Amino acid sequence: MTLYRARVLDTPDDPFTGGELRADDDAGLVVRDGQIVARGAYAQVRGDHPEDHVVDLRDGILLPGFVDTHVHFPQVRVIGGLGMPLLRWLDERALPEEARLADPAYARSVAAEFVRGLVEAGTTTALVFGAHFAPAVDEVFAEAARVGLRITSGLVVSDRLLRPSELLTSPDRAYELSCELAGRWHGVGRARYAVTPRFSYSATDDLLDACASVLKDVPGSWFTSHVNENLAEIARVAELFDDAHDYVDTYDRHGLVGRRSVFAHNVHPTDRELSILGAEGATVAHCPSSNASLGSGLFPLRRHLEHGVRVALGSDVGGGTGFSLLKEGLQAYFAQQLMGEEGMPLGPVHLLHLATAAGAAGLGLADQVGDLGVGKQFDAVWVSAAEGSTLDVGLRHARDAENALATVFALGGVADIAAVWIAGEPVHRPRQRTGLRLGA
Ligand SMILES: [Zn+2]
Repeated sequence: MTLYRARVLDTPDDPFTGGELRADDDAGLVVRDGQIVARGAYAQVRGDHPEDHVVDLRDGILLPGFVDTHVHFPQVRVIGGLGMPLLRWLDERALPEEARLADPAYARSVAAEFVRGLVEAGTTTALVFGAHFAPAVDEVFAEAARVGLRITSGLVVSDRLLRPSELLTSPDRAYELSCELAGRWHGVGRARYAVTPRFSYSATDDLLDACASVLKDVPGSWFTSHVNENLAEIARVAELFDDAHDYVDTYDRHGLVGRRSVFAHNVHPTDRELSILGAEGATVAHCPSSNASLGSGLFPLRRHLEHGVRVALGSDVGGGTGFSLLKEGLQAYFAQQLMGEEGMPLGPVHLLHLATAAGAAGLGLADQVGDLGVGKQFDAVWVSAAEGSTLDVGLRHARDAENALATVFALGGVADIAAVWIAGEPVHRPRQRTGLRLGA
């Protein structure tokens, strides 16, 4: 067994309903077979476990592993396409790259870059938008399994309006390939299958029906798609589905809105849509960097909460600008600040919750991950700033744990993620920070 000694911050109780930060300045966490079996004040835990190997992490802060509820595997190489609204960005930037994943060797190298990008950023669990090609989806499942990352993913399907046309399929073929992939990966290790129409913009009713059949025929599978991201997209969806109430209804009338459904964005929802999402227990993946970068709009978090809709964070790479959920938390905070009266004031405890426990709950994994309590898997991120860095200065002068957490969100980046564990296994080790020679 291993005993981790650290300053530990986590949010087992939802701060949106009165929960407070759980902060232990000198905690001991005993991990056996990947699971946390004891937690308490270090001196006490050490007394109870005198034989355990101690890992001293006091030079930093230990947080639960981050949960990214919306991220695109094929888009790691197109991050940074600034200056375009959604539909133009898809045509010019994202979809030409997604078409390249028809080549399994290309997909394999992208999968390695993608999984590494997530893990280096401290993400230990993710709902991953797959590729339009089944062999490419096999590659991302295989790489995640090799590294140990918890992913839920699936074949992205579309049968209209996307270019190039290689990205399109038929309802029958979508059903068949999705079930085959689910047969290979769903419930294998940490992998789960997600039925994934790209968005109803590019999906006919027949295709959405095929998606509903996969969801029914693969017990325990998940559903994910996009909704209400951009005003031009929403207007086109309204034309394409002139008999639907609204965008959410294009999915709901096929039975695709439920507890195991996660919709990305929802920047421009109606109250009717929010009521349905709340009543069905669906989750919305809020992707604030992407919303800002593509100019999609400001996310109405307060209205989601008022309608009882679950909300968690997503990086939306490559519409988003990187894998760090610390950045997404900060961007979520910025967006709400800019909304004035309509905004939901957020503190650091909300941000940590959105980046960890809220995602775990949204993905139905709250019994396993999301906080660092006894019984949970040891999925953890160690934030340790380089000596003398501005983050290091901020942390040394923080007033209290909440202030330290705010400093981590304000200043922390991928370079400050010094170690990451999934189920007790180190998947990203402390980086060598010294010995860099820049000249003779
Ligand atoms: Zn997306």
